[in-house]
Amino acid sequence: MRVAVVGAGMAGLSAAVDLLDAGAEVTLIEAAPTAGGKVQTEHVDGFTIEHGPDSFVSYRPAAAELARRFGLGEQIIQVTEPRVVYLRSADRMVPLPEGMGLVLPTRLGPFVRTRLFSWPQKLRAGLDLILPRYLGDDDVAIGEFLRHRLGQAVIERLADPLIGGIYGTSIEELSLDSVLPILRSHERNSRSLILASLKSGRTTGSGGSPFRTLRGGLADLVDAVTVHLRAQPGYRERFGVAAADCSTHDGASRLRLDTGEVIESDAVILATPAPVAAGLVAGELPGAAAALRTIPHASTAVVTLGYPADAFPSPPVGHGFLDAGSGSPSSGCTISSGKWVGRAPEGSVLIRSFLPERAHALQQRADAEVFAVIEQDVADTFGVRGEPCVRRIARWDDRMPKYVVGHKHRLNAIHAALSTRPQWQLAGASYRGVGLPDVVTSGKAAAAAVLDQFGR
Ligand SMILES: Cc1cc2nc3c(=O)[nH]c(=O)nc-3n(C[C@H](O)[C@H](O)[C@H](O)COP(=O)(O)OP(=O)(O)OC[C@H]3O[C@@H](n4cnc5c(N)ncnc54)[C@H](O)[C@@H]3O)c2cc1C
Repeated sequence: MRVAVVGAGMAGLSAAVDLLDAGAEVTLIEAAPTAGGKVQTEHVDGFTIEHGPDSFVSYRPAAAELARRFGLGEQIIQVTEPRVVYLRSADRMVPLPEGMGLVLPTRLGPFVRTRLFSWPQKLRAGLDLILPRYLGDDDVAIGEFLRHRLGQAVIERLADPLIGGIYGTSIEELSLDSVLPILRSHERNSRSLILASLKSGRTTGSGGSPFRTLRGGLADLVDAVTVHLRAQPGYRERFGVAAADCSTHDGASRLRLDTGEVIESDAVILATPAPVAAGLVAGELPGAAAALRTIPHASTAVVTLGYPADAFPSPPVGHGFLDAGSGSPSSGCTISSGKWVGRAPEGSVLIRSFLPERAHALQQRADAEVFAVIEQDVADTFGVRGEPCVRRIARWDDRMPKYVVGHKHRLNAIHAALSTRPQWQLAGASYRGVGLPDVVTSGKAAAAAVLDQFGR
């Protein structure tokens, strides 16, 4: 059985691993010269720079399992203490209360004491304890739901910076059912979100951070998987060339590459962002292409700056800050050298600043202009004097999938439109989860679906 896998991000890599395990022959096609997709680690002058993701969560095990399988178990590290993250508003920096789940408190004390909200705002959030259920059967925007239950302040100071930050866009358009389905279960089971969250804090504990990474950077996982794949007899790869079109001929699938080369296979896994998958199937299944194009993708950019520690008036404390309406184009900064060990050489500080979708115009400007704006922002925030010794920018244009309200209907429409081609499977962040563990799981699910059809 021959399978072509398009895209060597974590989804495509994980699909290739499982297919080879089951004895299939795999050709992995990747437009870039190297594997990893958004997982890109650069080592420069003793700094370890993540251009894309910098961590994965431990409560979804797929990414850690893959790392352990390829001998990286000992390299999985936890975040450094103190774990404090600040919220920056127009005039101040306030630490986020301890024991916060994604947007809800798992401990009441820190939430009651926090300076993040005024007393009237805390009382408004407390209305959640007595409000009747809000949700009907239909999906709604996370913003609409949380505003109703907890009030506007929780949206502006917590939910939008935290969740919007992950998706690079506002929670006013993100789908409750696809991004935070747990909130629907909380309301269904406990009515009050706060009560449900406090209960889950008591049963699961809220002590440790769920975030993990690899000591040497996440690209170590990509390298380990790639070394494994290349040692398998049934594996071939075509890197540095894009797939252009997918069609069927006499029951076989034909993948035409940009070079004109055609790869024939029994099945194809499209592990690219949805708009690319749309272009690949458009010739044969225009309806599926149209359905795939309904999933919007945002642009984001990450600016990484390395400084000598003595450029700071005092060493920066904690993991960074999220921005809530300070007027800055940045949605927040991670102090990478404060969050993880080994990210900066002794006596240095590594910072990454995020430009969300709303800063699209700045993202498009020349590197030097973007650096100037972000360096000024870092200087204003931390009191830094002097120039960074390392500057990098990674632009992810139209590559951040947005699960907007109705995302599940879009997935159903895509599934229906592709139903005549069960040998073509989709994987990757555009569909059922953007985190690395979700993406690894999506690759495994696509491999399993293909193997199933051929009785493996
Ligand atoms: C700035 C940033 C920070 C993030 N932070 C985190 C984090 O901390 N934790 C976390 O869990 N997740 C994070 N994510 C999300 C996570 O990185 C991604 O969801 C995940 O890496 C996507 O994997 P993928 O395999 O689906 O897609 P990609 O990584 O996008 O891989 C798709 C691959 O397909 C290739 N391709 C495209 N077109 C073609 C073609 N025509 N032919 C052949 N190949 C093609 C691309 O070159 C690419 O290599 C972050 C993402 C970004 C951008």
